[in-house]
Amino acid sequence: MGDYFQRIVDVEADEQEAGPLAERMVDWLVSEGVITRETSGEGVYSQTADEGYVPGPRWDRAVVGSAETTWQPGPVAVMVGRDYYVGGQGQDEPDSASCPRCDATTVIIDYPEEFEADEEVWRPYREAIAAWKETSEEGSVVCSACAAAVPVTEWRFGSGFGSSFDLGALAFDFWGWPPLDDAFLAEFSRRLGHRTGEQMGKF
Ligand SMILES: [Zn+2]
Repeated sequence: MGDYFQRIVDVEADEQEAGPLAERMVDWLVSEGVITRETSGEGVYSQTADEGYVPGPRWDRAVVGSAETTWQPGPVAVMVGRDYYVGGQGQDEPDSASCPRCDATTVIIDYPEEFEADEEVWRPYREAIAAWKETSEEGSVVCSACAAAVPVTEWRFGSGFGSSFDLGALAFDFWGWPPLDDAFLAEFSRRLGHRTGEQMGKF
């Protein structure tokens, strides 16, 4: 199970607060026994982290139901810094983008006729995401319906087929864990003080 992940993306933290917030979350998870301070790279394939925190004695507090004794979850990797995250497997773009100003939805991958992004439609988003990620700019995309220049972090990206697409400066990958419990996810988001995106996927 080592190559499956569940991911929590903080979609609101800015990059200044992401580092201190990551430390606070690790402190909390350690105090709950969900993880330890020991790190390992075994079974960790996160995009910007090559190791994570080894599960603690009470890792089952984070998952649905009681833990199976045979289940051995992998490390929890913490990623700090602006990035985009894609759940699912193999996809690198969202299916659609909806404007938060006028609610118009732009189709990026025209399922079921197409299984790849329309490059012309996707390009302004891709370039805005690159600008947001690599510079301190907000990276805007002009909505084709209402002409508003909307920061790329505010667009609502839609995905199907079990995939999802989130932008954020702080993310946590649980490698090889059973499904995370709703109450745990709610507590996690409450402690972050921010909205979160949840993803599942396979390396
Ligand atoms: Zn619009």
